[in-house]
Amino acid sequence: MVKETKFYDILEIKPDASENEIKKAYKKLALKYHPDKNPDTGEKFKEIAHAFEILSDSQKREIYDRYGEEGLSNEGGMGMSPEDLFASFFGGGVFGGRSRSTGPKKGKNFKHALKVSLEDFYNGKTTKLSLNKDVICNTCEGRGGKEGAVKKCTSCDGTGYKVHLRTLGPMVQQIQQQCNECHGQGEIIREKDRCKTCNGKKVINERKVLEVHIEKGMKNGQGITFYGEADQAPGIEPGDVIIYLEEKPHDRFIRKGDDLVHTAKIDLLTSLAGGSFYIEHLDNRVLEVKINPFEAIKQNEIKAIPSQGMPSHRHHTFGTLYIKFDIEFPERNWTDDVNKLNLLRDILPLSCVQNPPNTDHIEQVELSSLDSIQQQNVLNNNPEEDDEGHGPNVQCAQQ
Ligand SMILES: [Zn+2]
Ligand SMILES: [Zn+2]
Repeated sequence: MVKETKFYDILEIKPDASENEIKKAYKKLALKYHPDKNPDTGEKFKEIAHAFEILSDSQKREIYDRYGEEGLSNEGGMGMSPEDLFASFFGGGVFGGRSRSTGPKKGKNFKHALKVSLEDFYNGKTTKLSLNKDVICNTCEGRGGKEGAVKKCTSCDGTGYKVHLRTLGPMVQQIQQQCNECHGQGEIIREKDRCKTCNGKKVINERKVLEVHIEKGMKNGQGITFYGEADQAPGIEPGDVIIYLEEKPHDRFIRKGDDLVHTAKIDLLTSLAGGSFYIEHLDNRVLEVKINPFEAIKQNEIKAIPSQGMPSHRHHTFGTLYIKFDIEFPERNWTDDVNKLNLLRDILPLSCVQNPPNTDHIEQVELSSLDSIQQQNVLNNNPEEDDEGHGPNVQCAQQ
């Protein structure tokens, strides 16, 4: 009885399958799901390779049968890549064309975030970015020393690591340790034969300047790839440098895709009587925005200005600029002239009914003032923050 059957299910075999049946099942499925044939099945291909890697190794299979996938948790990083495994069965180029399995291994990609202002996203910009990277040493051409001076490490047989088995209760752990003879290099160069330029490291660190073209309309999170510009190392194809654009917050605009949102503070008089306000755009233009005298714009009302948003990437059609209004009321005690208030009473319509309800149970109460933090706390329904601090006044307001 096995603990779980996941890996067997992936290979579409029974848990009592023979070694030969496991191999056959792997061959059949690996051919069917190879990414060269089915670009969308890369994950499935990996799963198949992983399941086969475990079940074809009698020691790992025994651990898996007894303890399930959990028992194998220390087995990571030991296996071949799915492509290498596939190549060891079928050789390279099974499906014609470029074969990943026979090419050099690809190095790690280097990712870097670049902060970009909204102005630069709007107008486009080329910016220089310098990075340090390893390049193959020219003096020794990446050998690390004189030709013939580099010897394979005999202690680890050139692999750079040694494997120990450790028994921990019911689990057998495989522990991979760096070889201490060659310090994980897999080879040894005599001190006197070592390349003086790179000190035997085969690579030297160099400063490289990249020109990053931020195109109009690019977006937050978008990556710009410099193929093969990451660290070089002997025998590998260098990875890519990917620059991720990170939009800086802006003090006048919030970007929503190709649209912009601007909060416009206008005073109560302008909202009621009309007038103009100005928005400094992202390319030094200043927009004059007119408010129609009869609009009576309300607090938080949102209006749109077509084609004044962001340019779309590549097509450069412009999104919409949305204006959210924040109406500034006059300060407290803005006038002590009763005549002015009477003028207002003449002018402004009453929009809420102020007549007292028809009852004898009317009690007169007074409003007390709250500072802005106290006001926020009333709306934030967070009991932890209500515990202390602004107690008495808040309660006063809640009566
Ligand atoms: Zn060198
Ligand atoms: Zn070694």
